[in-house]
Amino acid sequence: MARTGSALRWSFAVLVCGAFCFAANVDYFADNGYGNTLSTEQHPTGEHFNGVTYVAYQGPHEDPYVAAYVHATGRWIGPVHAGVNTMGKSPDQIDKGELDNHGKPALVVDRQGYLHLVFGSHGGDPKHGKNPLGEFYMGEKGKMTHVVSEKPGDISAWRTLDNLPAFGTYNQWVKLANGDLYLFYRHGGHRSDWVYQKSVDDGRTFSAPVSVLKHKVSARSPTDDDAWYAWFENGKGDTITASYIYHPCGRPTHSGQRENTYYMLMDCRDGSWTNVQGQHLTLPVTKELADKATLIESTGKDRPSHGTCHVDADGRPHLCFPFGANVRYYRWDGKAWQKPVMVAAGLGRVNDGDFVVDSPTTVRMILGLANSGLDEVGWWKTTDGGLNWVKGPVLISSPSMGFQTSVIIRNAHPDAQMLLAAVLANEEHLYRRMYLVGEHGPLGRPEAEASHLGDRLDQLKLLPKGTPKAEAKRKKKASQIGEEP
Ligand code: ZN
Repeated sequence: MARTGSALRWSFAVLVCGAFCFAANVDYFADNGYGNTLSTEQHPTGEHFNGVTYVAYQGPHEDPYVAAYVHATGRWIGPVHAGVNTMGKSPDQIDKGELDNHGKPALVVDRQGYLHLVFGSHGGDPKHGKNPLGEFYMGEKGKMTHVVSEKPGDISAWRTLDNLPAFGTYNQWVKLANGDLYLFYRHGGHRSDWVYQKSVDDGRTFSAPVSVLKHKVSARSPTDDDAWYAWFENGKGDTITASYIYHPCGRPTHSGQRENTYYMLMDCRDGSWTNVQGQHLTLPVTKELADKATLIESTGKDRPSHGTCHVDADGRPHLCFPFGANVRYYRWDGKAWQKPVMVAAGLGRVNDGDFVVDSPTTVRMILGLANSGLDEVGWWKTTDGGLNWVKGPVLISSPSMGFQTSVIIRNAHPDAQMLLAAVLANEEHLYRRMYLVGEHGPLGRPEAEASHLGDRLDQLKLLPKGTPKAEAKRKKKASQIGEEP
């Protein structure tokens, strides 16, 4: 019976493929991710809208690329080149120190179905004028750029909308249920305010930037500036949560220091902000106010990175912040912050962590985990409010590739939960295979359709050989940290 079944399947495969089926299926949908292709910081990286999952990532020249997966047919469209990142270099580089990697795209679909991307800046450039809300320090580069699809639900053609300041970094879209769009970002280099701009007309116009977190000379040292890394997301109803960490940015040279975890939220009905206890906060929030009113944990020597945050049905926040090779989960139980818990502790290097809150005590988290020759991305679950976490299904694993993770796709279809980029050890170029993973693993396609590098690998052979800038940078920064998130 087994042989008959096998023969039948083979006949069927030949029948279906015919002469046109010249390539095997591969589990990635594109091979032209480039550098640090995606991150949890610039978000969303994708959105499921009207039966299609749209994803955006950094491709060749650090430009934004968009692809679409049609769930009804199981077919991929794209990736399509959607704009130009002015920080990109031509030809593509093989030394990762030559890439800026901060201009990654954030994607949102407006209420009419047009797709919007914002990308392309690491603080902006002085040639675009004076920055009224920040400095160019640690980022005199690029131009925050907004592009929109020419037609709703169609990724084939894009045009630029010149309606935002040039200076924005770490661009993040938040969309309310009524379709109002909020664009959050840091208004320049490290020493800049974090702001938002609101659009009630599908991204065609925006309100002036409103400062949420203030940069200024630090009260504790005149050689430090108060700086921040923040992450914004929908809260319950018409609210937006902010989870953030503090960065004392040293003068004259920046340091990699990061401290503390914080939380607050905005009521979008009137633009007012409160802390978790509901006390009013005056904007922009300073370091002093943040310490007094919004602190979750004073982390001492432990160094956090920006995290993710989602609320439960009661509106209470759950948060996940990476600390080095671990992540810490926090939640507000209505009266106090629960003692943080390390998820997947001791099992290897854990990265990022975005999650779904099913109830106040049941949370499912997607984590990257690297341990002794096996890299995987998969689910972890708690049913006791985060005290204990149990490993769940693995979405993808490999003995030879590492995975860069992003946030969970907005309004995710079960089959398409997270966009990933794979990094092969010892690869001689910076191109990444791109994966969209969900309940049934990666959503692949025929190999010929997934191939988008053209002759780029041949072009790389023409690059001059020398001491890699990445290596020099690493030595110079030995006492600091590497690239910013
Ligand atoms: Zn700094």
